Amino acid sequence: VTIFAGRKLAVVGAGLSGLATARSLQEGGADVVIWDDKEAGRAQAAEAGFAVEDLSNADFAAFAALILAPGIPLTHPEPHWSVPKARAAGIEVIGDVELFFRAHQASGIDCKVVAITGTNGKSTTTALTAHLLESAGRDVALGGNIGNAVLDLAPFAPGRVYVLELSSYQIDLTPSLKPDAAALLNITPDHLDRHGSLEGYASVKARIFAQLAPDATAVIGVDDVPCRAIAETLRGPYAVKRISIRGPVQNGVWASDATIMAMEGGKEVARADLAGIGSLRGAHNWQNAATAYALARSQGVEPVALQEGLRSFGGLAHRMEQVGRAGKVLFVNDSKATNADAAGKALGSFDNIYWIVGGVAKEGGLAGLESFYPRIARAYLIGEASDAFAGQLGDAIPHIACGTLDRAVDLAAADASRSQADEPVVLLSPACASFDQYPNFAKRGDAFKELVMQRNGVTSLSG
Ligand code: ADP
Repeated sequence: VTIFAGRKLAVVGAGLSGLATARSLQEGGADVVIWDDKEAGRAQAAEAGFAVEDLSNADFAAFAALILAPGIPLTHPEPHWSVPKARAAGIEVIGDVELFFRAHQASGIDCKVVAITGTNGKSTTTALTAHLLESAGRDVALGGNIGNAVLDLAPFAPGRVYVLELSSYQIDLTPSLKPDAAALLNITPDHLDRHGSLEGYASVKARIFAQLAPDATAVIGVDDVPCRAIAETLRGPYAVKRISIRGPVQNGVWASDATIMAMEGGKEVARADLAGIGSLRGAHNWQNAATAYALARSQGVEPVALQEGLRSFGGLAHRMEQVGRAGKVLFVNDSKATNADAAGKALGSFDNIYWIVGGVAKEGGLAGLESFYPRIARAYLIGEASDAFAGQLGDAIPHIACGTLDRAVDLAAADASRSQADEPVVLLSPACASFDQYPNFAKRGDAFKELVMQRNGVTSLSG
């Protein structure tokens, strides 16, 4: 990024994207100082060769801008300490995605940007959109909140499509956000603790559409109240594609019974079949698939190619990931389900479930999952939450305290192998955080996969 060449910049937050930002700005001729409130972050920045400076007493007027890492609160409920200082000094507070858009504009290179946000399903939809474009032969770069910092992506090149997952934080820090296609999947009250009111949260999310060009496309889910209200305000001149899993939508894309249908110019023009695509099982994934379909279509991919691309999507690790099969028994890793709501998505997507659940419970524990109990053959309790969950399950479904994941996998696999059902499913969907037994959900999911693959007679389902 050369737009700040010769100027001094403060970068706060030395994670993956903060370091990529500092590197990119420095290579572009800027004078960068970096700060992280955590010792480990500062050590990392120093090791990478950056000037680490305590900015708490710095004169912010000396900087051209404060670049804030995503995840550091700009507004709700309390902004990071550096924000009021920068504001008082009259300098701008922006993020790496802003730098990306400004650099793109300055480059004059004709590449496209597809941006995706929402409360749930962002990563899946972003990965699927990238996959649909890629499998149609497009040159794609995938990044943002999904884990690849935008300033680490391949340089701008004609025809390249950047597919970006954006969190509310990143949108907040990107005043020049101007994608060629933008999607807002859904808005539910999750994370309100971090964002203040639902209205505030929704208005940040809606900003993804604020500056769309006439030839751009807005894709919006209309199955929840806040999103429907936003959809009402979208009046073009860009194209608007509504997404639903509840029923037909005018000039939109909808999904029912594992089939995607689309209307273009008032006519139903296309369908794609999701049946049998393991990575897109469950109605929540139909929403993701319909959204990705609309986004890829907006970039000129033909329906036939979209069907092919949907079929070959491998899915993301730890999100209802089909790991292996032993006879009729299917093993599914849904370690990303760290609360009851997310676990409910998986429980609603299978029958005859041998459910491995537990860890560090969230408030409410398993409350709200009662309607899924008829799908569950037995629950295998692990970790700290075991006693509380045993109490919550009571007599509703059979359950057994297993302590650790290895014992739970053993018992669940043995029970499932004796089931008469067509497809008994051993499902790790913990409805809990992992940190009593694992450093994070990914390590927990990896441990599950390893335990499954060590078993006799298991054939792998992952690529
Ligand atoms: P995000 O990136 O927004 O966290 P992911 O694609 O990583 O979303 O999915 C995380 C979890 O959210 C999934 O395991 C599933 O439980 C749930 N989920 C995914 N898509 C949706 C959706 N469209 N609506 C509601 N919940 C969803």
